[in-house]
Amino acid sequence: MVRSDPVDTLRRHGLSITAQRLAVLRALARRPHGSADAIVEQVRAEINVISRQAVYNALGTLTEKGIIRRIQPAGSPAIYENRVGDNHHHLICRTCGKTVDVDCAVGKAPCLKASDHAGFQIDEAEVIYWGTCSKCLGAASGIRDQAIPRRNLKVSASKTEPKRNPI
Ligand SMILES: [Zn+2]
Ligand SMILES: [Zn+2]
Repeated sequence: MVRSDPVDTLRRHGLSITAQRLAVLRALARRPHGSADAIVEQVRAEINVISRQAVYNALGTLTEKGIIRRIQPAGSPAIYENRVGDNHHHLICRTCGKTVDVDCAVGKAPCLKASDHAGFQIDEAEVIYWGTCSKCLGAASGIRDQAIPRRNLKVSASKTEPKRNPI
């Protein structure tokens, strides 16, 4: 997806162009799916003196205008991204929180058609696939692999130590 220039984006949405809004948009273009605190860190790297509240305000305004999207995974801080309006979903690692975009599984937003809308006018369907990322899967199997020899080592060490020590 071609991202337009942050200045144009703000202008198109009738927002005044401020340093903090631009910095937030640039931060999200560089690294999407950041928490508000992660974005504060990135914005501070660009604009030295900026309050946390100023960044929060910019995030709030940009979200309200639909320029960025706020996702609230259960049990995690909200994350933000600049890819909006395409009904894409997310894969989130339960271990490290790594978040990856996934295109809608069935094409053009059909998951907005709930089997029973209960009188609601639905405008968004949020799908999060929870699991464990490949890196964390690798680390977990690595820990398991290490645990076995370590336990064996202890056993053999306690057996050999008393013999070794007198020598
Ligand atoms: Zn992970
Ligand atoms: Zn995303």
